[in-house]
Amino acid sequence: MGLVAAALLQRRGIRTLVVEADAGYCTGSRAICLSRRSMEILGWIGADAAIGAIGLPWVGGRSYFRDREVLHFTMPSDAGERFAPMVNVQQYHVEEAAAKAFEGAGGTILRSTRVVDLRNHADGVDVDVEDEAGRRTTLRAGWLVACDGGRSTVRERLGLRMHGTQYEGRYVIVDIEQESAREVERLAWFDPPSNPGSTLLMHRQPGNVWRIDYQIADDEDAVEAVKPENVLPRVRSHLEMIGETAPWKPLWISLYDAKCLTLDDYRHGRVLFAGDAAHLVPIFGVRGLNSGLDDAGNLAWKLAAVIDGSQPGALLDSYTAERRHAARENIAYGAKSTEFMAPPHFGFRLMRDAALRLALDEPAVRSLINPRQSTPIAYPCRPDDDGTGALVGRPAPEARIAHPSLTHLSQCFGDGYVALVFGDGPVDLQGTDARVVRVVPVAPLTASGAPSTERVIDAAGEARARYLAADGTVVLVRPDGYVARRRDHPPVASARIPGRQVAPA
Ligand SMILES: Cc1cc2nc3c(=O)[nH]c(=O)nc-3n(C[C@H](O)[C@H](O)[C@H](O)COP(=O)(O)OP(=O)(O)OC[C@H]3O[C@@H](n4cnc5c(N)ncnc54)[C@H](O)[C@@H]3O)c2cc1C
Repeated sequence: MGLVAAALLQRRGIRTLVVEADAGYCTGSRAICLSRRSMEILGWIGADAAIGAIGLPWVGGRSYFRDREVLHFTMPSDAGERFAPMVNVQQYHVEEAAAKAFEGAGGTILRSTRVVDLRNHADGVDVDVEDEAGRRTTLRAGWLVACDGGRSTVRERLGLRMHGTQYEGRYVIVDIEQESAREVERLAWFDPPSNPGSTLLMHRQPGNVWRIDYQIADDEDAVEAVKPENVLPRVRSHLEMIGETAPWKPLWISLYDAKCLTLDDYRHGRVLFAGDAAHLVPIFGVRGLNSGLDDAGNLAWKLAAVIDGSQPGALLDSYTAERRHAARENIAYGAKSTEFMAPPHFGFRLMRDAALRLALDEPAVRSLINPRQSTPIAYPCRPDDDGTGALVGRPAPEARIAHPSLTHLSQCFGDGYVALVFGDGPVDLQGTDARVVRVVPVAPLTASGAPSTERVIDAAGEARARYLAADGTVVLVRPDGYVARRRDHPPVASARIPGRQVAPA
């Protein structure tokens, strides 16, 4: 996610250098499920098309208890959506697309170079880096965004600790190559005949690759558990059970244990933490990379505004407040999913198995076993928030629109502030530097009628419905696609909206 943060900063005119310990992109089993929100963020740096061209979109999944299906879930989606709710693509493809976007915007990546130490000053950071040959240099930066992952050197050198929970359940993660005509969906088995007592997940990836995760017994030795002679028979047994008979070969085998940890503060002087360096969430529910990309989206415009002097440094306080809140919500969801996948004690397992057994015949129970996949987190907002429409602190809803070059409202976001003005009526927008987008039900008669505003056509009324908007509603959307302010039916005099304010944290 560091490359995405860097690309967002670089596109905002902030000269950014990426220091990367590796020579290339990540290897092994890493993230594969990208959320719709992540695709939107990747769209802001122009990387969505490359990923969309490779990725496998999906909308739902199935869970089985032993050999019987207990749940078939689908996520909200319809044919006209810009992105599917989820896209499966290997993390190295995402890194490559982000690197190209960053370099294309004029950014530089210093590869095979490791950050080894740093010193925070009032007006910048001295960063000691070491190349492959062991040569040390000190780089001087105005700000350092630490995106150096779960074992962050920056976090360690600043003496910071994350707080939270580490789960004892362990999973073997195996990526295999095998041709298959099976639908792309999330598949989960609890106590399957192929691997009795275990929980097993399967996901398809581009290039005929399958991700298979299975839980190992508490008393199983970790070193033994990842040996091919112990892994391959379990995989074979499962593939046979589900009727996948094509030849296959393993690509990667690793061990995973779930952690729910976050730093208390994501800003330390001139150093800002993002992604796994700031928080670790379990892989179940796919919130790791997805939430890291949301960190990048939240941080980049704020940091750019502070650096270019258009905002005071205090704006960055809202970064910790909002993203730590998101991390805690993600951790709560991730913990629930983890406990369902690998019950932490006997009582929990008893209840989980009872829910699974009941779900066989009782559709009402099935919602209890529905795995909640990653969605963008709403930030704390007004006490009068009733949870509907486009409200302050929530991601601005998506809607299909007609426009010469746009198909969806979300394509208007990700750059500066956007004031969505519903209808063609008069509104006083003096004092805002937001880009004004008029949302109107029909196309204007002449294209030359309104040089200072832009119109998008909401012919089916989807935007109005999703924003709970009427003529005169003004919704101010932040550069990261979150609602900053809204005014409904305002008298003209009070429709003035500030151009550069964030939702209260
Ligand atoms: C098996 C598995 C499956 C997962 N599935 C999903 C999923 O489907 N969806 C999802 O959203 N998340 C998933 N995740 C989580 C996801 O992989 C991480 O959350 C994500 O990689 C975090 O991104 P990051 O950029 O913060 O850290 P990283 O991806 O770890 O990147 C850190 C970068 O910093 C570099 N670095 C480290 N130390 C230094 C240093 N000292 N100097 C310079 N460079 C340094 C590293 O080389 C690396 O390139 C999964 C994780 C695992 C293990």
